[in-house]
Amino acid sequence: MVIMSEKTFHERSADTGYAVNTLDRLSNQRDDADFIADLQRQPQTRTVVIGRDRVIVRASGGAREALFTPQEAAGIGQIREVVLLGRSPERAFFGALLDDAALVLQDQADEGGMVDTRILVVPGREDLQPMDLRAIATQGLFDAGTTGLLGEAKSLLYWHARHRFCSVCGQSSELSAAGWRRDCRSCKAMHFPRTDPVVIMLAVDGDRCLMGRQPRFNKGMYSALAGFLEPGETIESAVRREILEEAGIEAGLVHYVASQPWPFPSSLMIGCLAEALTHEIVVDRTELEDARWFTRAEVVAMLEGRHPEGLLPPNPVAIAHHLLRAWVDRTG
Ligand SMILES: [Zn+2]
Repeated sequence: MVIMSEKTFHERSADTGYAVNTLDRLSNQRDDADFIADLQRQPQTRTVVIGRDRVIVRASGGAREALFTPQEAAGIGQIREVVLLGRSPERAFFGALLDDAALVLQDQADEGGMVDTRILVVPGREDLQPMDLRAIATQGLFDAGTTGLLGEAKSLLYWHARHRFCSVCGQSSELSAAGWRRDCRSCKAMHFPRTDPVVIMLAVDGDRCLMGRQPRFNKGMYSALAGFLEPGETIESAVRREILEEAGIEAGLVHYVASQPWPFPSSLMIGCLAEALTHEIVVDRTELEDARWFTRAEVVAMLEGRHPEGLLPPNPVAIAHHLLRAWVDRTG
Protein backbone atom coordinates (compact mmCIF):
# COMPACT_ATOMS: atom_id res chain seq x y z
CA MET A 1 0.00 0.00 0.00
CA VAL A 2 1.27 3.48 -0.86
CA ILE A 3 0.89 5.97 1.96
CA MET A 4 0.73 9.53 0.73
CA SER A 5 3.60 11.56 2.17
CA GLU A 6 2.53 14.31 4.55
CA LYS A 7 4.59 16.66 2.39
CA THR A 8 2.26 16.29 -0.59
CA PHE A 9 -0.61 18.11 1.06
CA HIS A 10 -1.04 20.68 3.79
CA GLU A 11 -3.36 20.19 6.73
CA ARG A 12 -4.35 23.11 8.90
CA SER A 13 -3.81 20.85 11.93
CA ALA A 14 -0.05 21.02 11.25
CA ASP A 15 -0.08 24.80 11.89
CA THR A 16 -1.17 24.34 15.50
CA GLY A 17 1.21 23.94 18.43
CA TYR A 18 2.30 20.42 19.51
CA ALA A 19 0.92 18.94 16.25
CA VAL A 20 4.11 18.34 14.27
CA ASN A 21 5.28 14.83 15.07
CA THR A 22 6.52 12.61 12.27
CA LEU A 23 8.16 9.92 14.41
CA ASP A 24 7.61 6.27 13.61
CA ARG A 25 5.81 5.18 16.76
CA LEU A 26 6.96 1.56 16.28
CA SER A 27 3.65 0.30 17.59
CA ASN A 28 4.25 -3.26 16.35
CA GLN A 29 7.56 -3.55 18.20
CA ARG A 30 6.66 -2.16 21.62
CA ASP A 31 6.31 -5.62 23.16
CA ASP A 32 9.79 -6.68 21.99
CA ALA A 33 11.80 -5.94 25.16
CA ASP A 34 15.17 -6.78 23.52
CA PHE A 35 14.48 -4.41 20.63
CA ILE A 36 13.48 -1.60 23.02
CA ALA A 37 16.53 -2.20 25.25
CA ASP A 38 18.76 -2.09 22.17
CA LEU A 39 17.26 1.24 21.09
CA GLN A 40 17.91 2.62 24.58
CA ARG A 41 21.59 1.64 24.38
CA GLN A 42 22.28 3.32 21.04
CA PRO A 43 24.56 6.36 21.48
CA GLN A 44 22.44 8.62 19.28
CA THR A 45 19.25 7.98 21.33
CA ARG A 46 17.80 11.01 23.13
CA THR A 47 15.45 11.32 26.10
CA VAL A 48 12.87 13.95 27.07
CA VAL A 49 12.79 14.32 30.85
CA ILE A 50 9.55 15.25 32.62
CA GLY A 51 9.23 15.96 36.34
CA ARG A 52 6.12 17.15 38.18
CA ASP A 53 4.53 17.96 34.78
CA ARG A 54 7.43 20.18 33.79
CA VAL A 55 9.87 19.70 30.92
CA ILE A 56 13.50 19.72 32.07
CA VAL A 57 15.43 22.20 29.92
CA ARG A 58 19.20 22.61 30.05
CA ALA A 59 20.89 25.92 29.37
CA SER A 60 24.30 25.61 27.77
CA GLY A 61 25.81 28.93 26.75
CA GLY A 62 22.99 30.88 25.11
CA ALA A 63 21.28 27.74 23.81
CA ARG A 64 18.55 25.66 25.39
CA GLU A 65 18.27 21.91 25.07
CA ALA A 66 15.46 19.51 26.03
CA LEU A 67 16.95 16.28 24.68
CA PHE A 68 19.36 14.31 26.86
CA THR A 69 21.36 11.14 26.40
CA PRO A 70 19.96 8.34 28.62
CA GLN A 71 23.01 8.73 30.90
CA GLU A 72 22.46 12.48 31.24
CA ALA A 73 18.78 11.85 32.01
CA ALA A 74 19.69 9.34 34.72
CA GLY A 75 22.06 11.93 36.22
CA ILE A 76 19.23 14.43 36.78
CA GLY A 77 17.45 12.36 39.42
CA GLN A 78 15.63 9.12 40.20
CA ILE A 79 13.71 7.97 37.12
CA ARG A 80 10.40 6.24 37.76
CA GLU A 81 9.24 5.28 34.28
CA VAL A 82 10.70 5.24 30.76
CA VAL A 83 8.50 5.27 27.65
CA LEU A 84 9.29 4.95 23.95
CA LEU A 85 8.16 8.02 22.01
CA GLY A 86 9.25 6.85 18.56
CA ARG A 87 12.06 6.90 16.05
CA SER A 88 13.20 9.34 13.37
CA PRO A 89 15.54 8.25 10.56
CA GLU A 90 18.46 9.35 12.77
CA ARG A 91 17.60 8.24 16.28
CA ALA A 92 15.10 6.89 18.79
CA PHE A 93 13.42 9.12 21.38
CA PHE A 94 12.33 8.11 24.85
CA GLY A 95 10.56 9.94 27.64
CA ALA A 96 11.63 9.63 31.28
CA LEU A 97 9.49 10.46 34.30
CA LEU A 98 11.44 11.78 37.27
CA ASP A 99 10.42 10.91 40.77
CA ASP A 100 8.65 13.93 42.32
CA ALA A 101 11.43 14.20 44.91
CA ALA A 102 13.93 15.13 42.17
CA LEU A 103 12.30 18.56 41.94
CA VAL A 104 11.79 21.02 44.77
CA LEU A 105 9.05 23.65 44.91
CA GLN A 106 10.86 26.89 45.65
CA ASP A 107 8.00 29.33 45.42
CA GLN A 108 4.52 29.84 44.06
CA ALA A 109 3.89 33.12 42.25
CA ASP A 110 0.60 34.94 42.84
CA GLU A 111 -0.58 35.23 39.26
CA GLY A 112 -3.56 33.08 38.49
CA GLY A 113 -5.07 32.39 35.11
CA MET A 114 -3.88 29.66 32.81
CA VAL A 115 -0.23 29.84 33.80
CA ASP A 116 1.45 27.23 35.99
CA THR A 117 2.99 29.55 38.56
CA ARG A 118 5.11 27.05 40.49
CA ILE A 119 8.81 27.82 40.66
CA LEU A 120 10.50 24.41 40.65
CA VAL A 121 14.21 23.64 40.73
CA VAL A 122 16.48 20.62 40.47
CA PRO A 123 18.64 21.01 43.61
CA GLY A 124 22.32 21.48 42.83
CA ARG A 125 21.72 21.83 39.08
CA GLU A 126 21.60 25.50 38.13
CA ASP A 127 22.01 24.50 34.48
CA LEU A 128 18.58 22.85 34.53
CA GLN A 129 15.22 24.60 34.44
CA PRO A 130 11.92 22.70 34.86
CA MET A 131 9.78 24.63 32.36
CA ASP A 132 6.05 24.84 31.75
CA LEU A 133 5.29 23.44 28.29
CA ARG A 134 2.91 26.34 27.54
CA ALA A 135 5.77 28.78 28.09
CA ILE A 136 8.08 26.70 25.90
CA ALA A 137 5.55 26.74 23.05
CA THR A 138 4.46 30.38 23.27
CA GLN A 139 8.08 31.54 23.45
CA GLY A 140 8.92 29.33 20.45
CA LEU A 141 11.92 27.95 22.32
CA PHE A 142 12.26 24.89 20.10
CA ASP A 143 11.33 23.92 16.54
CA ALA A 144 7.82 22.57 15.88
CA GLY A 145 8.93 18.93 15.72
CA THR A 146 10.68 19.10 19.09
CA THR A 147 7.68 20.87 20.65
CA GLY A 148 5.44 18.08 19.33
CA LEU A 149 7.76 15.50 20.85
CA LEU A 150 7.68 17.30 24.22
CA GLY A 151 3.88 17.33 24.08
CA GLU A 152 3.74 13.58 23.40
CA ALA A 153 6.13 12.90 26.30
CA LYS A 154 4.26 15.16 28.72
CA SER A 155 0.82 13.68 27.96
CA LEU A 156 2.00 10.09 28.19
CA LEU A 157 4.07 10.55 31.34
CA TYR A 158 1.30 12.58 33.02
CA TRP A 159 -0.88 9.50 32.55
CA HIS A 160 1.74 7.15 34.04
CA ALA A 161 2.29 9.48 37.00
CA ARG A 162 -1.41 9.28 37.88
CA HIS A 163 -2.22 5.67 37.00
CA ARG A 164 0.09 3.73 39.24
CA PHE A 165 -2.76 1.63 40.62
CA CYS A 166 -5.24 -0.57 38.82
CA SER A 167 -8.64 1.12 38.55
CA VAL A 168 -10.36 -2.30 38.64
CA CYS A 169 -8.86 -3.93 41.75
CA GLY A 170 -6.70 -1.24 43.35
CA GLN A 171 -3.41 -3.14 43.25
CA SER A 172 -0.33 -1.48 41.80
CA SER A 173 0.02 -1.70 38.02
CA GLU A 174 3.21 -1.80 35.98
CA LEU A 175 4.36 -0.20 32.76
CA SER A 176 4.35 -2.46 29.68
CA ALA A 177 4.49 -2.19 25.85
CA ALA A 178 7.32 0.36 26.14
CA GLY A 179 5.00 2.70 28.02
CA TRP A 180 1.85 2.41 25.91
CA ARG A 181 -0.01 0.19 28.41
CA ARG A 182 -0.10 -0.57 32.12
CA ASP A 183 -0.81 -4.11 33.27
CA CYS A 184 -2.24 -5.30 36.56
CA ARG A 185 -0.62 -8.54 37.67
CA SER A 186 -3.30 -9.12 40.24
CA CYS A 187 -6.49 -9.07 38.12
CA LYS A 188 -4.85 -9.10 34.65
CA ALA A 189 -6.58 -5.87 33.58
CA MET A 190 -4.80 -3.85 30.88
CA HIS A 191 -4.96 -0.06 30.96
CA PHE A 192 -4.25 2.23 27.99
CA PRO A 193 -3.21 5.91 27.92
CA ARG A 194 -6.12 8.33 27.61
CA THR A 195 -6.80 11.02 25.07
CA ASP A 196 -9.75 13.22 26.05
CA PRO A 197 -11.64 14.79 23.12
CA VAL A 198 -12.59 18.45 23.39
CA VAL A 199 -14.70 20.25 20.81
CA ILE A 200 -13.70 23.84 20.01
CA MET A 201 -15.73 25.85 17.57
CA LEU A 202 -16.88 29.07 16.02
CA ALA A 203 -20.58 29.49 15.45
CA VAL A 204 -20.94 31.30 12.14
CA ASP A 205 -23.81 33.56 11.15
CA GLY A 206 -23.13 34.79 7.61
CA ASP A 207 -20.39 37.39 7.91
CA ARG A 208 -20.13 37.08 11.70
CA CYS A 209 -18.61 34.52 14.02
CA LEU A 210 -19.13 33.97 17.73
CA MET A 211 -16.37 34.18 20.31
CA GLY A 212 -16.32 34.47 24.07
CA ARG A 213 -13.94 35.26 26.86
CA GLN A 214 -13.32 33.63 30.21
CA PRO A 215 -12.25 35.79 33.18
CA ARG A 216 -8.85 34.06 33.25
CA PHE A 217 -8.00 35.06 29.66
CA ASN A 218 -5.40 37.73 28.98
CA LYS A 219 -6.92 41.21 28.85
CA GLY A 220 -8.82 41.85 25.62
CA MET A 221 -8.54 38.30 24.30
CA TYR A 222 -11.55 36.54 22.80
CA SER A 223 -11.52 32.93 21.67
CA ALA A 224 -13.59 30.08 20.29
CA LEU A 225 -16.01 28.36 22.65
CA ALA A 226 -14.93 24.88 23.79
CA GLY A 227 -15.95 21.99 25.97
CA PHE A 228 -15.34 18.30 26.65
CA LEU A 229 -17.11 15.78 24.49
CA GLU A 230 -19.19 13.57 26.76
CA PRO A 231 -19.81 9.81 26.64
CA GLY A 232 -22.51 8.99 24.09
CA GLU A 233 -22.08 12.18 22.04
CA THR A 234 -21.00 12.69 18.45
CA ILE A 235 -18.64 15.56 17.66
CA GLU A 236 -21.54 17.40 16.01
CA SER A 237 -23.90 17.05 18.97
CA ALA A 238 -21.18 18.17 21.42
CA VAL A 239 -20.50 21.26 19.27
CA ARG A 240 -24.20 22.16 19.19
CA ARG A 241 -24.66 21.52 22.93
CA GLU A 242 -21.68 23.67 23.95
CA ILE A 243 -22.73 26.61 21.78
CA LEU A 244 -26.25 26.42 23.16
CA GLU A 245 -25.12 26.07 26.79
CA GLU A 246 -22.50 28.82 26.73
CA ALA A 247 -24.07 31.38 24.39
CA GLY A 248 -27.74 30.40 23.92
CA ILE A 249 -27.26 30.03 20.16
CA GLU A 250 -28.80 27.10 18.30
CA ALA A 251 -26.54 25.62 15.63
CA GLY A 252 -27.19 23.43 12.59
CA LEU A 253 -24.59 21.94 10.27
CA VAL A 254 -21.13 21.36 11.76
CA HIS A 255 -17.95 21.27 9.65
CA TYR A 256 -14.67 19.78 10.85
CA VAL A 257 -11.64 22.02 10.21
CA ALA A 258 -8.59 20.71 12.10
CA SER A 259 -7.43 19.00 15.28
CA GLN A 260 -4.64 19.59 17.79
CA PRO A 261 -3.01 17.42 20.45
CA TRP A 262 -3.28 19.53 23.60
CA PRO A 263 -0.95 18.21 26.33
CA PHE A 264 -2.72 19.93 29.30
CA PRO A 265 -2.90 17.20 30.24
CA SER A 266 -4.02 14.83 27.45
CA SER A 267 -6.67 16.32 25.20
CA LEU A 268 -7.37 16.28 21.51
CA MET A 269 -8.90 19.58 20.44
CA ILE A 270 -11.36 19.03 17.57
CA GLY A 271 -11.84 22.31 15.72
CA CYS A 272 -15.13 22.96 13.92
CA LEU A 273 -17.26 25.66 12.33
CA ALA A 274 -20.99 25.49 13.06
CA GLU A 275 -23.78 27.25 11.18
CA ALA A 276 -25.79 29.40 13.61
CA LEU A 277 -29.58 29.10 13.36
CA THR A 278 -30.41 31.84 15.90
CA HIS A 279 -28.81 35.21 16.56
CA GLU A 280 -29.51 36.41 20.08
CA ILE A 281 -26.73 35.61 22.53
CA VAL A 282 -27.48 34.59 26.10
CA VAL A 283 -24.17 34.35 27.93
CA ASP A 284 -23.66 31.61 30.53
CA ARG A 285 -21.98 33.74 33.20
CA THR A 286 -20.69 30.71 35.10
CA GLU A 287 -18.48 29.85 32.11
CA LEU A 288 -17.92 33.14 30.32
CA GLU A 289 -17.38 36.79 31.12
CA ASP A 290 -18.67 37.79 27.71
CA ALA A 291 -19.63 36.41 24.30
CA ARG A 292 -20.31 38.42 21.15
CA TRP A 293 -20.43 38.36 17.38
CA PHE A 294 -17.38 39.52 15.43
CA THR A 295 -17.52 40.55 11.77
CA ARG A 296 -14.98 39.15 9.35
CA ALA A 297 -13.35 42.62 9.11
CA GLU A 298 -13.00 42.72 12.90
CA VAL A 299 -11.41 39.26 13.01
CA VAL A 300 -8.95 40.26 10.27
CA ALA A 301 -8.11 43.38 12.32
CA MET A 302 -7.58 41.25 15.43
CA LEU A 303 -5.30 38.85 13.55
CA GLU A 304 -3.33 41.82 12.23
CA GLY A 305 -3.11 43.42 15.68
CA ARG A 306 -5.11 46.53 14.80
CA HIS A 307 -8.56 46.02 16.31
CA PRO A 308 -9.94 49.48 17.25
CA GLU A 309 -10.86 48.31 20.78
CA GLY A 310 -7.49 46.55 21.17
CA LEU A 311 -9.14 43.12 21.20
CA LEU A 312 -6.81 40.19 20.64
CA PRO A 313 -7.12 36.73 19.04
CA PRO A 314 -5.81 33.58 20.73
CA ASN A 315 -2.10 32.79 20.46
CA PRO A 316 -1.02 30.99 17.24
CA VAL A 317 -0.04 27.97 19.37
CA ALA A 318 -3.76 27.37 19.97
CA ILE A 319 -6.09 25.82 17.41
CA ALA A 320 -8.62 28.63 18.05
CA HIS A 321 -6.26 31.00 16.23
CA HIS A 322 -6.25 28.73 13.18
CA LEU A 323 -10.03 28.28 13.29
CA LEU A 324 -10.29 32.06 12.92
CA ARG A 325 -7.87 31.96 9.99
CA ALA A 326 -9.82 29.10 8.39
CA TRP A 327 -13.06 31.08 8.70
CA VAL A 328 -11.49 34.28 7.34
CA ASP A 329 -10.03 32.31 4.39
CA ARG A 330 -13.29 30.53 3.67
CA THR A 331 -15.13 31.72 0.61
CA GLY A 332 -18.91 31.55 0.73
ZN1 LIG B 1 -6.23 -5.05 38.87
